[in-house]
Amino acid sequence: MEFLEVFNEINSVNQKLELEWLDKFKVEIWIKREDLLHPYISGNKFRKLKYNLLENLNSQGWVTFGGAYSNHILAVAYAGFLFQKPTIGIIRGEELQHAWQQNPTLIKAAKFGMQFRFISRELYQNKEAIPAFFPELQEHHWIPEGGTNALAIKGCEEILSNNDSEFHKIACAVGTGGTIAGIINSAKNYQKIIGFPALKGAFLVEDIRKFVTSENSWNLVNDYHFGGYGKVTSDLIKWLNEFYKQTKIPLDPLYTGKMMYGILDLVRQNYFERGTKILVIHTGGLQGIDGMNETLKNKNKTTITYA
Ligand SMILES: *Cc1c(COP(=O)(O)O)cnc(C)c1O
Repeated sequence: MEFLEVFNEINSVNQKLELEWLDKFKVEIWIKREDLLHPYISGNKFRKLKYNLLENLNSQGWVTFGGAYSNHILAVAYAGFLFQKPTIGIIRGEELQHAWQQNPTLIKAAKFGMQFRFISRELYQNKEAIPAFFPELQEHHWIPEGGTNALAIKGCEEILSNNDSEFHKIACAVGTGGTIAGIINSAKNYQKIIGFPALKGAFLVEDIRKFVTSENSWNLVNDYHFGGYGKVTSDLIKWLNEFYKQTKIPLDPLYTGKMMYGILDLVRQNYFERGTKILVIHTGGLQGIDGMNETLKNKNKTTITYA
């Protein structure tokens, strides 16, 4: 069955980033292509869901939360389809009740059998209060927003493998911090982990610390959020298109694009010693590009073109 294959221990490939100018800085960058694991349960969302779902195969169904373009929502929908479990997505924004059929992420999620409940932004803010509004879902398993909990961290600890021990630095994008916590936990003690938050948030360091069980050294670089969560600039979009032209590697605009922009900017600033080998984690998120392009098109802005 396909789900057994999807949920086996799998390692993604590391691909060398071929950019001529990098030679000048004597820095090597490799990209761990977690985005290629699966088109819908891609990258870190697959890692974060794995144990949460495997340990809850007997519940009536799975409920989770997310914004309208959420990678996590689509991953849960597709997992429900694989495991033949009912899934319910609690989606931020009542206005979507009548407009979700224009949203590429929600269209796909619905195709995989997910049902939606649309709630106001105010209600959405207070996650703990939400289950009480849905008594009919009490028997379901509730997966936290973005999927971050101890089981998610356990899954993210499987991102690195022994084949990755040659790298000095490991870089990854940060949303809730679950993914980086797993990476910190399973890295070697001589490796340093660098996180690139996709949002403005001083709270992140504490959130990450809660889940870190190793002494490995790590830090966050806060200069590349491009205005905050879900925000992009035209410069970033043009940069993504150019990066794709040169490397044929697609990045998502909200997480991996910001991180890669940041890493390469740091290389140019001589942030890394000569001889440094960096492993950059491609956490996926490519499903969100269609939705982002619609938003950009409506604002008459440059869109993402990977062709
Ligand atoms: C959700 C997501 C992240 C952030 O992961 P956290 O565990 O919340 O820090 C990074 N990259 C992509 C592509 C994502 O979809």
